[in-house]
Formats: sequence, C-alpha cells, structure tokens
Amino acid sequence: MSYVRVVGEFGETYILPSERAGELPLIAEWLGDYAPDEDVGPDLVTAALLGADAATPDFAWMVTPRPALYFGDDLDDHVARLVDGTEEWGPILVVDAHTLASLPLYRQVEEVRVTVLHEMGHAYLRRRGVPYEWAEEDVVENFARHGGAHPLIAYGEAFGE
Ligand SMILES: [Zn+2]
Repeated sequence: MSYVRVVGEFGETYILPSERAGELPLIAEWLGDYAPDEDVGPDLVTAALLGADAATPDFAWMVTPRPALYFGDDLDDHVARLVDGTEEWGPILVVDAHTLASLPLYRQVEEVRVTVLHEMGHAYLRRRGVPYEWAEEDVVENFARHGGAHPLIAYGEAFGE
C-alpha cells in the first residue's frame, strides 16, 4: 500500500496513498484556493513518495487515513501546511515544491518524512479537539524528529476536549 503519483485535470501533482486515489475529485475540490506548483520534477516526486512511505509506520497508531500530499505554490517559507478541516475525514497536506527543491536531494526524502509527521501531529491534536496554541509547535516537532507518541498523546489529553 504505497503512495502513488497522480496527475490532476490541470497537470497538478498529487502524491496519494494508494487507498485514497479514488478521492481525487474531493481532494481537488478542497484544494481550490491553492495554486498548483507547475514545476515539479521527477526528483521531487520520488522524494515525496519515499518520504511519505517512510513516515507511515510512525503515525499508524493514530488510526487515521494517511495524508494526501499536493504540490502547491507560495506557502510563505513553510515546507508544508495542513489544509484546515481535512483532519476529520482525511488529512491533506500542501507541500511547497520550491522550498523542498532548495534542499540537496539526499535531504529531501528526510524532510518530507519529518514534515508529514509534523503535520500529522497537528492533525491528531485537531481531532482531539485541542485548540491551536504556539506551544504545540514544539510538541509536534519533537514527535516528528524523535518519534514516540506519548508526549503528543499527553498534550492532547491535557488540552483536548
Ligand atoms: Zn507546525
């Protein structure tokens, strides 16, 4: 059950969990406000596929649909962003191809892996009903870098519904 590349109606690039490939029309609809990045080369696609696959075991405990990735433009220095509201039915992450492409190839896979885990940390806390606070960034980044679900779960229990 690997990630697959899907090219959309307008040539835009999606990196989808194979089990969610059929959701493409719905995913494209949610992404209506995000401009697609039109300059996504084969190296970035490979990095995204490998990075997303590598992240999967570390968030499997969340029992949530795996995130769909989309190459979008202009994220203000962020590597990726969770699309608001998608954490409930199936997370969608917008990835900035330019930021990713500025890294050496050998770091791109790791950056995607860590970024997916970071954003899935946010998605988990939204699902737990935790209101976003800046302090959350440290918690999700720690999860992304070092794994280990317990600090994230504890944060969710402390500040969730
Ligand atoms: Zn964050």
